[in-house]
Amino acid sequence: MAKKVYERPMIIKQYSGMMNKFGSAPASMPLSEIDGVPVKQLTEEWGSPLFVMSEKKIRENQRRLYRIFKSRYPSVQMAWSYKTNYLNAVCSVFHQEGSWAEVVSEFEYDRARKLGVDGEHIIFNGPNKSVEGLQKAIHENAKIHIDHFDELYQILEITDRMKKPANVAIRVNMDVGIYPKWDRFGFNYENGEAAQALKRIATSENLRLVGLHTHIGTYIMSAEPYRVAASKLVELANMMKREYNTDLEYIDMGGGLPSNNTLKGQYLEAEQILPTYEQYADAITSPLFDLKSSSGKLPTLILENGRALIDDAGFLISTVIGNKRLSDGRRAVIVDAGVNLLFTSFWFKHKIVPAQQNGSFTENSTLYGPLCMNIDCLREEIVLPVMKRGEQLVIKHVGAYSVTQWMQFISLRPKVVMTMEDGSVELIRDSEHLDYITSMEKIPEKLNAFSLQ
Ligand SMILES: *Cc1c(COP(=O)(O)O)cnc(C)c1O
Repeated sequence: MAKKVYERPMIIKQYSGMMNKFGSAPASMPLSEIDGVPVKQLTEEWGSPLFVMSEKKIRENQRRLYRIFKSRYPSVQMAWSYKTNYLNAVCSVFHQEGSWAEVVSEFEYDRARKLGVDGEHIIFNGPNKSVEGLQKAIHENAKIHIDHFDELYQILEITDRMKKPANVAIRVNMDVGIYPKWDRFGFNYENGEAAQALKRIATSENLRLVGLHTHIGTYIMSAEPYRVAASKLVELANMMKREYNTDLEYIDMGGGLPSNNTLKGQYLEAEQILPTYEQYADAITSPLFDLKSSSGKLPTLILENGRALIDDAGFLISTVIGNKRLSDGRRAVIVDAGVNLLFTSFWFKHKIVPAQQNGSFTENSTLYGPLCMNIDCLREEIVLPVMKRGEQLVIKHVGAYSVTQWMQFISLRPKVVMTMEDGSVELIRDSEHLDYITSMEKIPEKLNAFSLQ
């Protein structure tokens, strides 16, 4: 018989509280392996903290979402949202699965090109496209999604100069019943700017209107707003058909589907309250069948989902640095991954579980990161077993926006590995080192020397 884990006796204040309908707060099951690779082995080999991306999960997510939409609508194209996670290895998995690239800056555009994506498979979004960026995108036949009139005029000027037409769409924002409205990106539908921009494009010799785009927000918690958005785009497309006989190649419904991460203010777990992807797909696709086209062929539906495809494919392994008691008796656990690596912990209650059996005694604890800064708190309150220095925790659902929003602050960013479908583990981004950070700095000549006594 295995020896029982020793648990040191402890006196703690009892707080009485109501159970909810799912019972009392459960202790989390430990997660000791990721894709069959022991967490302990991962940290021994690659260090801690450590980001782990699962190749298998990314492919599964992508195929599943594609299947859900493709079974409802004849022509579907996914475009990977680079800003959600633009590590080359991650983007390559999506491109191997047939995804185009959706970029929101010239930096991301260049990343996609460098990875081998041709211009025509790049969707160039975002409010800030430089003249050089636009020239490149026009030259390489990218699909440029115009954000505002000044950008439209700029593109007109460039295409006149280059004597080359540009493939364009406009981004449209509209009232979809979510407030405050997301109206800062693209042309507004209700005030007529969207229709006006479309007419300006239709009457310009050098602009080819290839599509319509909207991205109504992120982590959208109900399906209805998508139905409203799709109907309004169909309205615009049919107006263009009627007045200019324009046949669009695509309708781009953006991203925004939620992942199974629970928001901070949410009482119930995400999976208990969010609609299914099938419900979102019904809402998005059903209005599209009202689109009019000359050939009778419906335009392609483009999807730019980010978080829904990658969040649960990412894990952050962290190691306990120490335990302490706060002034009010609460237990605090300090771990080696902080908000510098997990920006998203400001909004989400990521699932955080031990990587080993730590016994059945659990306690409400506060989980702090390693930074010497008060805001570095991963969770104000979490039920955790007693954990010793050197033991690991796994933070789940961190594939979206963490390795793009992480910051180099106080310490260096750690390695990222990918667990591969064949069972191996590959390094996909090395940890930073001091020379890498300081190589971009310059010391003015007169500050070169000092002597301390
Ligand atoms: C960020 C972004 C996406 C992806 O959003 P998710 O909420 O992660 O799905 C898609 N399209 C555009 C234009 C974006 O800015």
